[in-house]
Amino acid sequence: MKRRRFLGGSAAGMAFGGAGMPAAPEAFAAQTGSSALPAGMTPAAYPTRRSAYSPFTTPDYFTYASDLEVERERPGKPHRGKVLAAIQAHSDDVPLYCGGTVAKLIDEGYTGYLIRISNDEAAGKTLGYGVVQNEIDNQAVAQALGCKKAFSFYYRNHRMDDCAEIEIRARLIFLFRLLRVDTILAMDPYNHYEENPDHVIACRAAEAACWMAGGSRDYPEHFKAGLKPKSVREKYYHARSPQGHNLTNRIVDISSYIDTKVRSNVANKGKGPAGEAGSRMRQELARRGRKLPLLGNDDETANFAYVKHFLMDDFRLLGEQFGLKYAEAFRYIGPEPDYRANIRKYAEENSVPL
Ligand SMILES: [Zn+2]
Repeated sequence: MKRRRFLGGSAAGMAFGGAGMPAAPEAFAAQTGSSALPAGMTPAAYPTRRSAYSPFTTPDYFTYASDLEVERERPGKPHRGKVLAAIQAHSDDVPLYCGGTVAKLIDEGYTGYLIRISNDEAAGKTLGYGVVQNEIDNQAVAQALGCKKAFSFYYRNHRMDDCAEIEIRARLIFLFRLLRVDTILAMDPYNHYEENPDHVIACRAAEAACWMAGGSRDYPEHFKAGLKPKSVREKYYHARSPQGHNLTNRIVDISSYIDTKVRSNVANKGKGPAGEAGSRMRQELARRGRKLPLLGNDDETANFAYVKHFLMDDFRLLGEQFGLKYAEAFRYIGPEPDYRANIRKYAEENSVPL
C-alpha cells in the first residue's frame, strides 16, 4: 500500500522493533518521510506507526482529542455487576481490534457477551465451510476472552446492506434489555474509510439500539414479556483498519492481556490473518529445510508466536508512544450527567421564598 504523504513528519525518527523482533520492513521507512505541510499550519491527523506485518490492526491516521485519557489496569474488580456486549460483524473483528480491552474489562469484573451479526460465509474454503468454521471460531473466541456466552445473528456476509437494518437494531435492543447491557465495544460508526458494508450496518444498528433500548415506548411487547428498558451508557468505539482515520480520546493499556488477545486470534481459524498461519509457515519452511526460531518447535507455539510477534506488533508500536507495552485505541463515549438532578439541585440551592 502506498502511504499518503500529506502528513508524514510526526512519525519520523521513531524507533522500530523490540527485543527479538525482526528488522523493520522497507515499507515502514517509506511511511515516515518529511511533511510537505505549509509553515504555520497545525496537523489535524497523525499517521499511525505501523509494522507492515498485519493487514488489519491500526488505521493509517488518528486524530487525538485534547482530553485523551489512558485507561490503565484497575485492581479490585471495579466493574463487578456490570455487563458488556462486544459486537462484531465478523468473527475476527473483536479479537483483532479490541480483544485486549474486552479481556481487561471482564477481568476487572464485567460479565461479557459476544454478539456476531453475520454468518461469515464469505470466509472459508467454500461458503458452507465458512459458515460452519466461523460459527465454531466465534464460540472459541468468546471462550478465550472470558465471555459468558456468544450470540450469532447469521445475516449473510458482505450483504448486510441488503438486510433490514431495523430488524438488526430490534434484535440488539432485545438482547440489551435481556442481558442488562451497560457497555458496548463496537466498530466506530464514524470511521472515515470503510470498504466492508457489514461493518457500517452493524455499528450503526448497535449505536441506535443503545439509545432505543432505554425507551419505554419502543417494542412495548418486550415489557409484557417481563423485560425492562435498559440504556447502554458507555461505548468503546474501535477503529477499522487499514486506511481508516479515527478520532481517539481513550488509549487502553492491554499489556497484561496481550496473551489473551493473541489466543482469541489463534482461535479464529476460518478467517483473518491469524488462526493457524504460524504452523502453516513453520511447515512450509520445514519443507524447504529451513526453520524460523521465533516459531518454536511445534504448531501450537508457532501459531501463538506468529500472532504475537507479527499481527500484534502494531498494538505494541501504538502502546510504545504512551509508555505502555501494548495498547488499543478508542473513541470512548461515557455516561451523560444526570441533567434532571443537576437542574433540581440548582433550583433547591437558588430558589427564594415567595
Ligand atoms: Zn469485519
